[in-house]
Formats: sequence, C-alpha cells, structure tokens
Amino acid sequence: MQLSQRIRGINPDASNSWEVFDRAREMKLAGESVVELTIGEHDTATDTAILSHLHQSAVDGHTGYSAMSGTDALRQAVAARVEARTGVPTSAANVLITSGGQGALFAAHMLACDPGDSAAFIDPYYATYPGTIRSVGAVPRPVMARAEHNFEPSYAALSTSTRGSRSLLVNSPNNPTGVVYSAETLNNIARACQENDLWLISDEVYDTQVWHGSHISPRTLPGMEERTLVIGSMSKSHAMTGSRIGWVVGPEAAISHMAELAINTTYGVPGYIQDAALFALQQGRSFEEDIAAPFQRRRALIQPLIAAQDVVRAVPSMGAMYQMLDIRATGMSGIDFALRLLKEEKIATMPGESFGQAAAGHLRVALTVDDDTLTGALGRMLAFARARALQAAG
Ligand code: PMP
Repeated sequence: MQLSQRIRGINPDASNSWEVFDRAREMKLAGESVVELTIGEHDTATDTAILSHLHQSAVDGHTGYSAMSGTDALRQAVAARVEARTGVPTSAANVLITSGGQGALFAAHMLACDPGDSAAFIDPYYATYPGTIRSVGAVPRPVMARAEHNFEPSYAALSTSTRGSRSLLVNSPNNPTGVVYSAETLNNIARACQENDLWLISDEVYDTQVWHGSHISPRTLPGMEERTLVIGSMSKSHAMTGSRIGWVVGPEAAISHMAELAINTTYGVPGYIQDAALFALQQGRSFEEDIAAPFQRRRALIQPLIAAQDVVRAVPSMGAMYQMLDIRATGMSGIDFALRLLKEEKIATMPGESFGQAAAGHLRVALTVDDDTLTGALGRMLAFARARALQAAG
C-alpha cells in the first residue's frame, strides 16, 4: 500500500539520532555494564506521593474519558503558575493540557503552519524538532547558533533565516546546550518575530532548572503575548516523564483551536494523570527545587574537571540537565567519538550531530547518573579525548 508523503517525510533519510543510545541499551541487555549519559531523564522515579495520588484518583473513579482540553482545576493551576512566574495575566482559557511537551509542540506547529510553510527553529535543537515540524507538513528551517557565540542565535541570523517563515521555535534553558538565553537574545528573538510576523513557540520545559542567569519567558516581552505559544511540561520539573503531561499557554482563540486538535487526536490526557499533575503542582517550589538539585550539584562538580584540561572545551551549562563538550580537538566527529567511547570505555553519550549541524564535533552529556559515576565517567572521557587528540597530532 502507498504511504503518505507526509508520514514518509517525518524522517526522510531514516537517520537515527538515538543510535548510540540504542546500542548502549543492547549492550546492557547483553549483560554489559554501561554508564548511560544519554537521555534527559532523572535517575529517580516519580515521587511516591504523586503516584499515590494518581492511584487514589483512579480508584476514586477518574478512569473515564476526561476533559479533553484538561480539567478546569489543572488548567487553572497551570495558569496561576504561569502568571505567578511571569506576571502576565493568564487564565484557564489560555491553557491546553497535552500529552507531554511533545504533544504541545505538535499542537503549536499545527496551529501556526499550513502544509508547505516554513517553520524556523534554532540549531542546535532538541532532537524531535525537525520531525515535529515535518509531521504537520511544514518545512524545517534551521537558524544557526554557534558554539563560538555561546550557542545563542545572533539578531542577523534570526532576522534573515526566519524571513518568510510562519513560526520560530526556541528553547531556553536549552537542550542540548544547557545555555540560558540572555535578555538581549530574547529581545532579538522578539524583534525578529515581530518584523517577520512569526508565531513564537517558546519551549520552556526546563524552566525550573536554571543555575546561572535567569529564565525570561518571551511571552512577557512587549507585543509578544498575542503571538507566543509557551510549551510546558511536568516531565523535567516533577520527574514525570512517563506520565506524558504538559501544556500550551497562548492566546484564547489559539487554545480553543488547538482543543479541536486534542479532540481529534488524543481525546485528552487521562484524568488520573491530570489529578496527579495538579497534586504535584500544589507541592510548590521546594519540591521542584529538590528535583532539580542533583543536576545543579553535578553541573558544579564537573566544571573543575573540564577546566583542568585543555583538549575538551565547553560552554559551561547554565541550566537544564546537560553539559555539552566540544571534542573537535580530537579531529573526530561527535558520532565517531561517541561510538568509540561506547565501545572502548562503555560510556554512552549523545553525539552533537543528533542535535544539528551547529553541534557537530560535540557530545551532550546528560547529568543523570549519581555524582561519583558521573565524575568517574567524565574523567575517563577526558583522558580518552586527550589520547585521541595526541594521536591526531601524530
Ligand atoms: N522539549 C525539550 C527541549 C525536551 O528536552 C523534551 C524532552 N526531552 C521535550 C520538549 C518533550 O518532553 P515531554 O514530551 O516529556 O514533556
């Protein structure tokens, strides 16, 4: 049977960003011991208090079809949270509950783009971005943010590379780079969106993980509220990756159109998950800080190790659960380095190439193992890089 262009086009060159991750999992299944510094998932499970709440909600009968745009209580809680954090008046009508941040990214692009439209995003990018854009029939258009510029896009790149696009997707704190965009960069983003009449899709799923600088939601900037769709998620802030719950915050009319999409795709997020998410949000900031703390601590632990050598360079991570390492001095690509590192040192990392051209020759290290395992693995990685660099120098 014939397959649609659109479904075949989601990953047109059948590339696998997760190749190293998949191999590491195979090795583990075969009984090998591998240090996994690959995906952005906490090394702790969802808190048992949240799980008890989830269970109780189900036992109490919230097992039927649930409110498709989200329960009123959860939408109100998300609205209150966004308003408290940003100062922008926000009500339940500005919130759509989705299947994770990923569902929100899809809905936002469905809202912004028609088939064939160009949808811009910043490179390096979270690995699903181009596929999400192609899933709605739009054409991904990268805006380069180079390591030499702290992985932040310049105004020139933003302005020229988004001309003629319908939307611009940005992510701060950033996965994979760990960079928190400066106020200047965010102002430039806002300016480019206004000049080129773009929807701004602002992926803020790491907004509780900021170690340096401060998180500014671009929805707060002058003239941006009406053209910004904020992507949120409980995955990172509350260690609820498997619960698949997130949201889009945006103008009321946009939200009600995206609600139509929810009716015709997911038919809503399970009620007991929504109740658990509400309970989780009610636990307040200190709960979120406890979940974020290990990443902040590990980020601090590894900086001196990186600073103590001169082969691997790094833009110090300012937020999220990652550190990017620049391994270009070894003469190897990120993918070759990551595959050899896995084979020889049994350490799995994500090659920068999985996150775009601007991240080529880099590795993304997820800070998602205990402190000693992380520092031990990083020490071995740095020694491995030094040996490769010496070899390359002949
Ligand atoms: N955006 C970014 C930047 C991410 O890193 C992720 C997950 N790794 C997501 C969105 C999607 O997360 P989820 O669907 O679990 O909310």
